[in-house]
Amino acid sequence: MGSIRLDRIDKVYDNGFHAVKELSLSIEDGEFLVLVGPSGCGKSTALRMIAGLEEITGGQLWIADREVSELEPKHRDIAMVFQSYALYPHLSVRDNIAFPLKLRKVTKAEAQRRVEEAARILELTSELDKRPAQLSGGQRQRVAMGRAIVRQPSVFLMDEPLSNLDAKLRVQMRAEISALQRSLGTTTVYVTHDQVEAMTMGTRVAVLSKGSLQQVDTPQRLYDAPANLFVATFIGSPQMNALSGTVELADGGARVRLGEQVLELPPEILDTRPGLAEYDGRDVVVGIRPESMEDLADGGRTGAVLTGEVLLREGLGSEVLLHVRLPVRSVAAGDGGSPAVSSEGSVTVIARVSPSSESSTGSFAQLHVDTGQLHFFDPLTGSSIARVDQQQHPAG
Ligand code: ATP
Repeated sequence: MGSIRLDRIDKVYDNGFHAVKELSLSIEDGEFLVLVGPSGCGKSTALRMIAGLEEITGGQLWIADREVSELEPKHRDIAMVFQSYALYPHLSVRDNIAFPLKLRKVTKAEAQRRVEEAARILELTSELDKRPAQLSGGQRQRVAMGRAIVRQPSVFLMDEPLSNLDAKLRVQMRAEISALQRSLGTTTVYVTHDQVEAMTMGTRVAVLSKGSLQQVDTPQRLYDAPANLFVATFIGSPQMNALSGTVELADGGARVRLGEQVLELPPEILDTRPGLAEYDGRDVVVGIRPESMEDLADGGRTGAVLTGEVLLREGLGSEVLLHVRLPVRSVAAGDGGSPAVSSEGSVTVIARVSPSSESSTGSFAQLHVDTGQLHFFDPLTGSSIARVDQQQHPAG
């Protein structure tokens, strides 16, 4: 049916730019796969190659067990929804939705049946005789969806279809598209640069950086077991804090030194992360999710506490974000996901704490770190030093 397989797909543009590098992905029939990554990472190029709008430089593309690498778009049994809805302003909603059927020589009666069915699903029945200019942004977006639905394709391809909508409508349409996809069961590949959209909509999410696949997995596993520092810091908001530290093993225990401060690690850490033993006396990148820190009002606990000045307290009602400056070197995901360590002597971490936190801007906070939830990465490659119970599915 609508399964899609990309086998080492490459795209080199005429000017020599290598936009997609050996991309391999298997998308199951009925699956909702999101391609996500920062601007310019090659996600639209990948989608356009699946659509047949962009020539494939190398590798093979299969849709529904048929190799389609060289096939014209119209023979690929796909329907695409773009960011600009590409509606015809002079045609009614009805004719806009019916348009692709005219080109396909579907009988008038069948076309009418399909348009009315799509309008019913998309709640556009009362709008069918209007022109696009008379519709709201969300309704126009639904007309574009309707035009894809009536074709009854094996695959939907969507390129940032929500980016022209305001924030509130985007959240609503996000849920509508997910529900629609589930009820139709049509295999969907959806491109976005928005990691929240990716996490909330995809059954699986493929993260791209600079044309290369970093990891493909369920949203939760991307969050819990990122394959490398790039994925770790791309997925999650506020993003994971990345600090440069040194591993010290002694007396059967393990700790990580962050500048002047030391985090005692749980005794079982070498059982759960045996790879960490190789880093004794060496630098690692330590990743701390904002919610893995807790504000210690009493300061009474020791072992896994980071102390620093609160530069900013942001109260969000249900939670508080504390921006705390620590005397530690920071790390960012550099080119290709490998870390870039700053030589500066301090880093600002963000902790997501309870509204009962009394730390205020300008005060010193003691942040208790849940060391069972720490992430560790190799400082040269950015690869995760993974937990044995969290086998990763890296690129490929
Ligand atoms: P965005 O979210 O900004 O649309 P993207 O991840 O979808 O980004 P692409 O549009 O796939 O990125 O582009 C990937 C890279 O290929 C970019 O660096 C872009 O400048 C380059 N590129 C795109 N089209 C061409 C072209 N026709 N010729 C040369 N380079 C191109």
